[in-house]
Amino acid sequence: MKIYRVATIPGDGIGKEVIPAGQQVLEALATSENAFRFEFENFDWGGDYYREHGVMMPANGLEALLTKDAILFGSAGDPHIPDHVTLWGLRLKICQGLDQYANVRPTRILPGIDAPLKRCAAEDLNWVIVRENTEGEYSGVGGRMHQGHPIEVATDLSLMTRVGVERIQRYAFRLAQSRPRKLLTVITKSNAQRHAMVMWDEIAAEIAQEFPDVRWEKELVDAATARMVNRPASLDTIVATNLHADILSDLAAALAGSMGIAPTGNINPERMYPSMFEPIHGSAFDIMGKGIANPVGTFWSVVMLLEHLGEMEAAARVMQAIEDVTANPALHTADLGGTATTAMVTEAVCTQIAASAKAQLTVA
Ligand code: ATP
Repeated sequence: MKIYRVATIPGDGIGKEVIPAGQQVLEALATSENAFRFEFENFDWGGDYYREHGVMMPANGLEALLTKDAILFGSAGDPHIPDHVTLWGLRLKICQGLDQYANVRPTRILPGIDAPLKRCAAEDLNWVIVRENTEGEYSGVGGRMHQGHPIEVATDLSLMTRVGVERIQRYAFRLAQSRPRKLLTVITKSNAQRHAMVMWDEIAAEIAQEFPDVRWEKELVDAATARMVNRPASLDTIVATNLHADILSDLAAALAGSMGIAPTGNINPERMYPSMFEPIHGSAFDIMGKGIANPVGTFWSVVMLLEHLGEMEAAARVMQAIEDVTANPALHTADLGGTATTAMVTEAVCTQIAASAKAQLTVA
C-alpha cells in the first residue's frame, strides 16, 4: 500500500480548526479507498510559536518539510504580531524556500452557492489564476532610513527576473493548454510600469510561440477587475504577478460566493521540493474558536493536493462530495448565510466520501 507523508501546519486563527478538518477528510478517504494511506506530521508553527521562541518557525524547519510528499497549510496571521512578521516568517519562508513558484488558484461557483454576480450564470465563472509566487513585489528588497524623522525614506523594490517570468508564464500556458478553452489572459500594468511589466509582455509573446494552440491576450490589471465583474465568461486561465494575482484572487473568491471556499496550491512544478496546499483565506480571528469556520476552502485544497500526488480518481471523489454538500443549504456555514458548523460540514463530506466508495464497490 502506498503511504503519503503529509505535513500539516495549521498556523493561526481558524487554521487550527480547518486543517484538522482537512486531515479528517483525507483519513476518511484513505479508509474508504484502501489503496493508500497518509502519514501525518503536525507542525505547531505560527503566532503561538513566535510568542514562545521569537520566530514563526525554527531555523531548520524547511529541512523537516523536505521529506514530505505534500504540505497542508492553514493560515498565518495574529492580531498581536505585525502582519509582515507573520507572513515573512512562515508562509513566504516556505514558499520561497521550497521554490513553490507557481501559486494556482481555481475559482468556480459551486452548486448551491449564492454568488453576488446576478447577471451571469454560475458556469460563466470558471477561472484558474496563476500567481507568480517567489519574486516580484514580494522580493523583500528595499529598506527604510531616517525612521521617525521628517526626511524618512522607504523603498520596496519589485524584482522580476527573466528566469522567474519565463517559468511562471510557461506554467500558465501549459495549464491553459490543458483546459478545454485553451485561453490565457496575461495581466500586467505595462502602461505605467515601463520596465519589468514590459518585459512580462515581451516574454509572454515569446513563450506563446511554444503553444500555438493556446489563444492568449494581454490585459491591464485595473481593466481586469472590471472585466471579472462584467464579463466573467470572457476569462479562463489568468497569469499575473505576485501582488496583482493576490488581489485578483481575493476578488475572484468573493465573486464565487465566499473567501471560505477558495483553495490554493503553492506548486514546485519540477517536484524538487514538496508543494503546499492551503485555503486562500487568512486567520479570521473574528470567528476563531466558535466552530463556524467554513472548511470547504481546505477541502478543495485537499483535492488539489490529491491531484498533485497523482490520485486523480480520489480527488474527483472528494470534489464530488464537496459539491454534494454545498448543494444543501442546511450545510452552509455562516459566511454563506447558513447555520452549519465546521464539524457538521466535515462530517457530511466524510459521509459522502464513504457513500461514494460503497457505490463504487457495488458497481464493480
Ligand atoms: P489574515 O490577516 O490572516 O490574512 P484576515 O482574518 O484579516 O486574515 P481573511 O481571512 O482574508 O482575513 O478573511 C476576512 C473575513 O472573512 C474574516 O474576518 C472572516 O469573517 C471571513 N472568513 C474568511 N475565511 C472564512 C472561513 N473559512 N469561514 C468563514 N468566514 C471566513
